[in-house]
Amino acid sequence: MISDIVVVGAGIVGAACARAFAQSGCRVVVLDRDAPASGTSAKGEGNLLVSDKGPGAELRLAQYAASLWPGVAAELAEELGAEFPAIEYERKGGLVVATTGEGARPLLDFAASQRDAGVDARAVSIAEALELEPHLNPDMTAAVHYPDDAQVQPVIATEALLASARNHGADIRPFVAVTGALRDATGRITGVSTTAGAVPAGAVILAAGPWSGEVSAMLGERLPVRPRRGNVLVTTRMPHRVFHKVYDGDYFGATQSSDAALQTSSVVESTAAGTVLIGSSREQVGFDERLRVAALREIAAKALRLFPFLAGASIMRSYGGFRPFMPDHLPVIGADHRTAGLWHASGHEGAGIGLSLATAELLVAEFLGRAAAIDAAPFRPDRASLAPYLDEVA
Ligand SMILES: Cc1cc2nc3c(=O)[nH]c(=O)nc-3n(C[C@H](O)[C@H](O)[C@H](O)COP(=O)(O)OP(=O)(O)OC[C@H]3O[C@@H](n4cnc5c(N)ncnc54)[C@H](O)[C@@H]3O)c2cc1C
Repeated sequence: MISDIVVVGAGIVGAACARAFAQSGCRVVVLDRDAPASGTSAKGEGNLLVSDKGPGAELRLAQYAASLWPGVAAELAEELGAEFPAIEYERKGGLVVATTGEGARPLLDFAASQRDAGVDARAVSIAEALELEPHLNPDMTAAVHYPDDAQVQPVIATEALLASARNHGADIRPFVAVTGALRDATGRITGVSTTAGAVPAGAVILAAGPWSGEVSAMLGERLPVRPRRGNVLVTTRMPHRVFHKVYDGDYFGATQSSDAALQTSSVVESTAAGTVLIGSSREQVGFDERLRVAALREIAAKALRLFPFLAGASIMRSYGGFRPFMPDHLPVIGADHRTAGLWHASGHEGAGIGLSLATAELLVAEFLGRAAAIDAAPFRPDRASLAPYLDEVA
């Protein structure tokens, strides 16, 4: 079946959708009001984590995504050739540590619950943790090693997915903003109006990240996606002294919390280039981009507790972006139950890089009526956990 799909947003989620739909024979147009990969996908880290997710639907999506990344990374490298920069996929593993007496038991219990859900979560001794990370502060109370945690360079990964989509016939149109919906007499969405004219389509996939709430409203439907600001510090290049994704156990609490106030937890990792990324903060301040020194100070202080050697590191820059936050902590993936022709691929909060490929596969399966690899019901727009918030949005 040949269908016309418009994807709104050329971040990593839109890019993954564009590639998956184009590969399955659909004619795809991607619209972005800005340059591709210039939204949130360029403003975070590239962690592909299973370690921070408790048993449940999001973990199953992350496990599915983790199973897809190695194959897609290899396909992209082969298809795009040596002249295209590598997406830097690396299954380097994660090490989660507790730094307090009270933090040890919850971390170990959490890891046990993940093991029951099929995660490779290995409780290691302090000595084993120091073998994995020799520069880690030995003053820790528990540690869990997650060999399946991985990372990519998110901007290159987005560009590579778009390049592959283009190779499969997709038309990527930057600097075209979607302003509204085209509808037929039944109310079905039949395309979008844009700053460059009307773009008719059989289906519109909304993948506008933290802006999906406002774009959805332009298309006539409510969607409670809100921006959740996050900041990262970047050191200058240095010899590699951080070998895994290392974070303190507080991180899990921060990702699952809906608290609007500033929350920070330490996530430290090195990149292929030799810089160290130190994340990250979470706060709901709308789309306010002003630099917040208090957040940066807190992130830095917590990182020093993990890696004291960072006290001598130079910070080269700090950047931040807006995670697409959903009030029930699950992305929204699938056909809108209120308006025919509208599809959603949004709300991945701090995990959209990792979950992008799995999101695209679930959407394609639903669109083409194929069996999906995992149950997509928990992510559908009509799920019970989202219903109260759909009513709330003005
Ligand atoms: C500090 C920080 C750290 C993070 N770390 C990680 C991590 O380690 N791992 C991970 O998996 N995730 C991480 N994330 C989250 C991740 O970055 C997001 O979940 C992901 O990038 C969302 O991708 P997206 O494609 O949905 O949105 P975006 O990348 O924001 O793309 C949306 C696009 O929609 C476009 N758009 C908006 N309005 C319109 C319009 N009207 N018309 C046309 N186009 C429009 C925008 O220009 C934008 O390009 C982090 C986020 C932050 C802020």
